[in-house]
Amino acid sequence: MRIATGGVLHETSTYSSLPTTLDDFINDRGLYRGQEIMETFPGSNVCIGGFIDGAKKHGFELIPLLWTFAFPSGLIERKTYDGLLEEFLQRLKSEEDENGPVDGVLLDLHGAMVIDGIEDGDGHFISKVREYLGDDRPILVTPDMHGNHTPLRVQQATAILGYDTYPHIDMNERGQEAAALMVRIVQGEVKPVMTLKQIPLFWSTACQVTAHQPMKEVMDYAHEIESRPGILSVTVSTGFPWSDILDVGPSIIVVANDDQDLADKTAEEFSSWIWERRRRWYQLPFSVKDAIKQGQEIGKFPIILADHADNTGGGTAGDSTEILQTFLDLKLEKALILYIVDPEAIALAHQVGVGGIIETEIGGKSHTIQGPPVKMKAEVKALSEGKFKYDGPMYAGLTGSMGPSAWIQQDEISVVLVTAREQPFGPAFAKTLGIDCESMNYISVKSSAHFRASFEPFAGAIFNVEAKAIHTHDFAKLNHQRRKHDFYPVEIPYESAPEI
Ligand SMILES: [Zn+2]
Repeated sequence: MRIATGGVLHETSTYSSLPTTLDDFINDRGLYRGQEIMETFPGSNVCIGGFIDGAKKHGFELIPLLWTFAFPSGLIERKTYDGLLEEFLQRLKSEEDENGPVDGVLLDLHGAMVIDGIEDGDGHFISKVREYLGDDRPILVTPDMHGNHTPLRVQQATAILGYDTYPHIDMNERGQEAAALMVRIVQGEVKPVMTLKQIPLFWSTACQVTAHQPMKEVMDYAHEIESRPGILSVTVSTGFPWSDILDVGPSIIVVANDDQDLADKTAEEFSSWIWERRRRWYQLPFSVKDAIKQGQEIGKFPIILADHADNTGGGTAGDSTEILQTFLDLKLEKALILYIVDPEAIALAHQVGVGGIIETEIGGKSHTIQGPPVKMKAEVKALSEGKFKYDGPMYAGLTGSMGPSAWIQQDEISVVLVTAREQPFGPAFAKTLGIDCESMNYISVKSSAHFRASFEPFAGAIFNVEAKAIHTHDFAKLNHQRRKHDFYPVEIPYESAPEI
């Protein structure tokens, strides 16, 4: 049995003004071809790693074509996408010309990829692979939990198996699950059929953490359904709202064994259950000041503010300033901002050196939506070229690079200025600068949920706050133009849902 594999992964914010180019794919997680894939990913926690491990376990030949991943940002340039797709298909064709037909394709795709001129990037990619393979050979796809799923991709793929965790920690597992299902399909043991059910609502990031309620209950339900006879897989996708496309939003995908009626009925049952409880999946965001006040009342420190509207992990610029301004206005003690992207201020800090004073404007330079730059007169406490080792549950052991960076401090307010748009997955980089996060009273992170794996163990309280920035969670402000249905709680009022 011979299975081809690869993928082009990107979570695209149509609100981001940063276009995604070939250089981004090459410089971010990298662009790997053929054997390089087999040398790089075995055992790693990405789906392609799970495909490789699964192939070994089940004893089939895996043919690596092309795999690449760019960090979330704006629309992918058309010529970049066309080039990657063409090379993928060309490699598949060459393999078949030389060594005969493959039995199927395992695809590692994000599920929220948008290309300049192609709204459903993942659906387009799958369709092109389908066009080449014809109708009989299986294509399995393992998207992120934040995919915006469309009828096209469900029609063109044989089965879609999405992640079960957020923060995402089960990619290898999902890859292996897809590899195992591929074997059963090729051997004629099962015949997948799929149903997509889109759910017209906005799902707050703060309500998606799978280890906690209310999301845990959703995943428990999904796993209960997966244990039923005839069901091969259930995917819950919470959607990626910062994409103004026709099919934006959460969805359920049910894969059943040769029983369309069962798939349809199960998808209907599960999506109705989610819809009835829609109030549970939406949290009115806290204002920055309210979160600080409530945290102070609780009295447990550090209080962590997730600045989710400027989560660089979702494709924003990372230079919004409302929280920094609020910290300064309130004259907070032992307060820390992780991070603000500002290469100009960093250059200044490197010029004056450690112990020097810089007087300049910080942040707010990418777009007026990010808030105005903040005037600071701050001491340079430490400088760095940005290299560090991750030591938390996400990416442990991998090397990170924030680019030229600086720790500056005004009164008791510290800011870590960085060049790379990478979210703070943990305190590891701050530690290299000499900052002890655990001794802080207030920490603001430009992250929605991934920071939790490392910060939760010592946090006094955590609030997802609504500060001014491009990825607002006040979803009405996104002003979607393309969306085809009314969504809760924007056009369908919050109060319309019963409390269940
Ligand atoms: Zn995701």
